[in-house]
Amino acid sequence: MPSNKRLLVLPGDGIGPEVMREVRRVIDWMDRRRAVSFDIEEDLVGGAAIEARGTPIAEATVDRAKAADAVLFGAVGGPQWDGLGFDRRPELAILTLRRELGLFANLRPAVVMDALVSASTLKPEVVQGLDLMIVRESTGGIYFGEPRGVTTLPDGSKRGVNTEVYTTEEIERVARVGFELAKRRQGRLCSVEKANVMESGLLWRQTVTALGAAEFPEVQLSHMYADNCAMQLVRNPRQFDVIVTSNLFGDLLSDLASMLTGSLGMLPSATIGAAGADGLRHALYEPIHGSAPDIAGKGVANPLAQILSFAMLLRYSFGLDADAALVEQACGRVLASGLRTPDVMAPGCARVGTQVMGEAVLRELDKLAA
Ligand code: NAD
Repeated sequence: MPSNKRLLVLPGDGIGPEVMREVRRVIDWMDRRRAVSFDIEEDLVGGAAIEARGTPIAEATVDRAKAADAVLFGAVGGPQWDGLGFDRRPELAILTLRRELGLFANLRPAVVMDALVSASTLKPEVVQGLDLMIVRESTGGIYFGEPRGVTTLPDGSKRGVNTEVYTTEEIERVARVGFELAKRRQGRLCSVEKANVMESGLLWRQTVTALGAAEFPEVQLSHMYADNCAMQLVRNPRQFDVIVTSNLFGDLLSDLASMLTGSLGMLPSATIGAAGADGLRHALYEPIHGSAPDIAGKGVANPLAQILSFAMLLRYSFGLDADAALVEQACGRVLASGLRTPDVMAPGCARVGTQVMGEAVLRELDKLAA
């Protein structure tokens, strides 16, 4: 008997609990219909935790996340907490989890499902069939480097400083994630930096090249400057399989790539850490959208990004590729059947809410598994 997988579910605020409810139904379906079952704990984070406990994430919640095999996160934040200081804001929940679980690689897929080709601002012939993955280093680089800060100069003017810093070890561990992903996909990795103008970029390029030669000779490695990569993502995004890059460039390029697909309500992500002795990695899965306070409580949020985040969890935390593919196919078939939440509405389609969309995914799962 396969042992149960331990999941910590953190719905959070706004539409988080609404879209997570639909995922729970998919998880129940998996429990009933597939050879995989889950032990699920649920806890408060973000504004909900501030209201109940006075802190965006309790220490006990962090401990539960450390003990879990994977964390499924909704979204946090909302206007009612905007006035709080940076040390108390709901967003601290996600930053704390990333730090405490050592989650250094952010995985952002950009996949264009056939039914949504027309939702992209790019021409259908450019994005049709797009399936790329951006791996962004997420705990180092210029957002964390020292020295940093603003100083006042003798003449009274000011000087702001942030520092891009990467060590060999930091580059190797995130590049390894990129190589391993490429191996499981089309076997191509593009490493992105600015080796032409930044010493840290040159070290990045040299380190990735050496790692590839030593450990991943079967992966086809290429290098690209970040500015060119931005251009290539718009010109011909299908040339890429996996991209690995720094925190700063990944921040920009992954947002750019996600918009190739047309809607925030469709996009999952994962953030993963180093593998432990048992081979398991700490990992957190979440949609890239936020808590969407403008539509919270109206029952119209698109649950697919959250459901697709669960599919990523199945694939990357547990190697359940067939189950992940089943969930992804079910989502694609729901869209192809013409059901749409308002964010992805198109002429001739039927407008539905969160719950109906979730039920439609379950129906497609039933059909696919029949
Ligand atoms: P957002 O992603 O919440 O919303 C942006 C727009 O997209 C809104 O119009 C919203 O209605 C729409 N949208 C988002 N998800 C959708 C879905 N599943 N279905 C349909 N429409 C959807 O970003 P925002 O408005 O900039 O931020 C709102 C709050 O969320 C803020 O408090 C912000 O700090 C927080 N936030 C949290 C996270 C996170 O928890 N990781 C990420 C981003 C923003």
